[in-house]
Formats: sequence, C-alpha cells, structure tokens
Amino acid sequence: MLNYQGTVIRPPSEANSLILQVTLGCSDNSCIFCPAYKDKKFKIKSIEEIERDIKTAYQYYPDIRKIFLADGDALIIPQKDLLIILNKILETFPAVIRISMYASVKSIELKTVEELKQLQSKKMSLVYVGFETGDKDVYQLIRKYGSPQKNVESILKLKQAGIKSNVTIILGLGGQRFSFQHAKNTADILNRSQPEQIAALTLMVAGNTPLYNMCKLKQFRLLKDFDVLKELKILLENLQDFKCLFFANHASNYIPISARFPKERQNLISMLNKIIINCNKKALKKDFARGL
Ligand code: SF4
Repeated sequence: MLNYQGTVIRPPSEANSLILQVTLGCSDNSCIFCPAYKDKKFKIKSIEEIERDIKTAYQYYPDIRKIFLADGDALIIPQKDLLIILNKILETFPAVIRISMYASVKSIELKTVEELKQLQSKKMSLVYVGFETGDKDVYQLIRKYGSPQKNVESILKLKQAGIKSNVTIILGLGGQRFSFQHAKNTADILNRSQPEQIAALTLMVAGNTPLYNMCKLKQFRLLKDFDVLKELKILLENLQDFKCLFFANHASNYIPISARFPKERQNLISMLNKIIINCNKKALKKDFARGL
C-alpha cells in the first residue's frame, strides 16, 4: 500500500486519479475557516519516500492516466526535486496525460515562468489554487497569505507557462456583513484572471477552526441557504463572458451545478432566480446532507 500519512484531501475532479502524497499538510495553514490539515505540520517528503510510493503504485495502477500530487502546495517543492519526481512519474507511468496539484500564491511566486514551463513540459498541466474571495476585507478576515491581486497575478503567470488553473471560491465566506462585496469583488478577480475552471464551495464551519469560535461569539454571522443562492446569483451576474467550466458540485453546495460558461451562464442565473423567487426549498439540499 502507498504510505499515506494523516487525512489526504483531493479535489472532487481528481476522483479517478492516482493520489501521490509528496508533501504533508499545508505550507500556509493559517486560514481561519479551514480544518483541512490542522493535524499536520508542513513537510516535504523525501525523494526516497516518494520514489518508493511510485514503485508501489505501479504494481496496482500501471496504466494510470492522471496523477494528483497531495497534500497542500506540492508546487513549493524546490524545482530540482520536483523535476526528479515528475521524471520518475513519466518514466514509470507512460500512459500519464496529466499531473496536477494544489499550489499557493507563495509557491507560484517562487517559480519563474521558465521554471513553470519546464514543469508544464513534464505534463504538469493543471494547478488548483484557492482564491476563496476577491474582496480585500474578507481576505483580511480569513487571514490567508497573499491578496486578491496576488491571486490574479499567479493565475496570469500560470497561463504564460501554458498551465491551466482551477480556482476555488467559497460562497458565504464574507458572512452576512460582507456578502454583497464578497460576491461582486470575487467576480471581478475571476474576470481579471479568467481561469479555465472555477469551483465554488459553500462555507461550512468546522469545530476545530477559529471561525467556529467567532460564530459562537456572534462575531461572524453565517448566511442562510437562500442568501447563499442570492450571493451566487450576484457573482454570476457580474462575471464576464469568458470560456470556463463552472462547478458547484461539492458536497457543501445547496444545489449541484456543473456548467459550461459563457454558454450556460444566463440559464443558470434564470434557474437560481426562479428558485429564489419561489422560495423553493425542495430544490435545495438539506443542511444535514451537506458535508465538507
Ligand atoms: S484554505 Fe488552503 S491555504 Fe488555507 S489553510 Fe486550508 S489548505 Fe492551507
């Protein structure tokens, strides 16, 4: 078996990929809403450990086509080592067509466009980046490294290197106070960066996070179900017509959505409008059925 340590998280769209754990935890780990890697201190696994896992994985999945490098921020691995890992993967699994990973603003900042191009030539063609919000106030509130502007720059840099991006945003992250500006300014940074894929999650508050305590102290007020839909509608109305895949099919979302933009954007807005106007509770997933 592969040497997975602790909880291993992957994006929903990597369900059929081989998950190869090359780092432990998250290099930032400061976001107040995120329960993901609170049990782990960030570490890059040794090349020997990773090569052992690649060898083991070959026995089970010799023809695998997609590989996801976990945990958080695999792109922060020094270029020389990352190239060794990618070369080993390509040598072991000749059928591989895509290698993907989570990356942070920091790790994208640390790589030059030339280095990113080098990685792209080794089939590293998709990177998942957490924008979370495009609003400065909300960004400050969640205490994440970077800024909305830096997020835009990081996606443009990936584009220059020919690497596609999947950007995560979180509905409800501004709470009741910042809902409108969160939606509007998130649409704005998506317009400016134009990622190939957008994944919208809906905020769920986990017990082991600072945000949980803020909710208990009423310093943060969560959005109700229909308010989340209204926020999504504002975001979609403010998106420009650029080509991308839009997903809101994570377990946390009230309505599962998977759409091609710009073609399906207006239909989606009309659908949301109808549900909101009719207060159609039946169209929504029940809160107990949502999950992280
Ligand atoms: S949201 Fe992403 S960057 Fe922030 S702590 Fe969680 S895994 Fe790390």
